[in-house]
Amino acid sequence: MAKKTIRDVEVEGKTVLVRVDFNVPMEDGRITDDNRIRQALPTIRTLIEKKARIVLFSHLGRVKEEKDKEGKSLKPVSEALAEHLGREVKFVPETRGETLESAIASLESSEVLMVENTRFEDVNGKKESKNDGELGKYWASLGDVFVNDAFGTAHREHASNVGIASNTDEVAAGFLLEKEIKFLGNAVENPDRPFIAIMGGVKVSDKIGVLENLLEKADMILIGGGMSYTFMKAQGLEVGNSVVEEDKIDLAKSLLEKAEGKLFLPTDFRTATEFSNDAESRVADYDDLREGEEGLDIGPKTVERYRELLQNANTIVWNGPVGVFEFSNFAKGTKALLETLSGLDASTILGGGDSASAAINFGYEDAIDHISTGGGASLEYLEGKSLPGIECVDEK
Ligand code: ADP
Ligand code: MG
Repeated sequence: MAKKTIRDVEVEGKTVLVRVDFNVPMEDGRITDDNRIRQALPTIRTLIEKKARIVLFSHLGRVKEEKDKEGKSLKPVSEALAEHLGREVKFVPETRGETLESAIASLESSEVLMVENTRFEDVNGKKESKNDGELGKYWASLGDVFVNDAFGTAHREHASNVGIASNTDEVAAGFLLEKEIKFLGNAVENPDRPFIAIMGGVKVSDKIGVLENLLEKADMILIGGGMSYTFMKAQGLEVGNSVVEEDKIDLAKSLLEKAEGKLFLPTDFRTATEFSNDAESRVADYDDLREGEEGLDIGPKTVERYRELLQNANTIVWNGPVGVFEFSNFAKGTKALLETLSGLDASTILGGGDSASAAINFGYEDAIDHISTGGGASLEYLEGKSLPGIECVDEK
């Protein structure tokens, strides 16, 4: 079923409440990665063109007590947004009350207003995060139409997404949410085959749900990263000091059995004598890892083999770096696979916060068809779960 989007709603002169995900990383009041702001621009720009009166909601970080509000105001984010849009963004340092209400009432068509961090409502009883009925109703009363464009929060049932939606007659998806559904949703529900998944990252335990779901949906799963070693150990191989989840070895065994040859493991590794970029390092075959060394990246033979397997794919979903990409000496595998993906015709999709930052930092942002803005949300989507933030949007 197709979701209603902002193409399908009449917004001219109406007050449109938009939930965006501006939960951006900040250091000393400075935004260190504005990807999420940039990804929300198509929706905001379209609403400006369509002459809506635009009210933006977002959370920023976690707020439990009054003192947590320090440094969590959305004011700097509203200023960054104003710069991207090349127009004024009115910022209201409140999440409710007369100041907010009169600022919204005096908005002209095509004007943009940003409400303070929705999580400030968590200080007195987690009203935002527990989807307090009164709060969702109040926020909904401030507008005519609700647009959800916050994929990063779509796995949560909060007042600022599900709460507003359930008190608003017309609920549409923004372009970012639509794009996430199109790429991630298609991959898990109706992929253009062959569909190959690449799974990395540190822990099997973080990704069990995704592995199990993709074992049913994908034609192949290529394993890399720290999770490889739990699978190696499950086969009785020596893994030295590599990261292993002892309590997931049985699970790894049963996944290998269930996989019926669909699951591919690295055939060699780049090892290190300690967890450091400058550690002594060598390339070791999968059955030649020694005591005292740990695998920090996939090796060149694995890169070559995965590269060949990927040539035939029509859909590729990648979650989790295949090595410790933060260390330049152990980023080679991740870079080589990014390079491979950039040269393929397949639909290429990246999920996971670290995978996304690897792709962006190594300069592959434009070479990948879709880099998901959701960490937890993209994982739950790939697990096949239904997400409340998507469910609450009207069908066409
Ligand atoms: P994502 O955020 O994309 O879902 P994860 O959070 O699951 O990815 O995993 C990313 C982390 O995995 C990175 O910090 C990376 O250093 C780490 N990692 C990858 N390979 C290894 C390895 N062989 N040993 C230890 N850590 C690893
Ligand atoms: Mg991560």
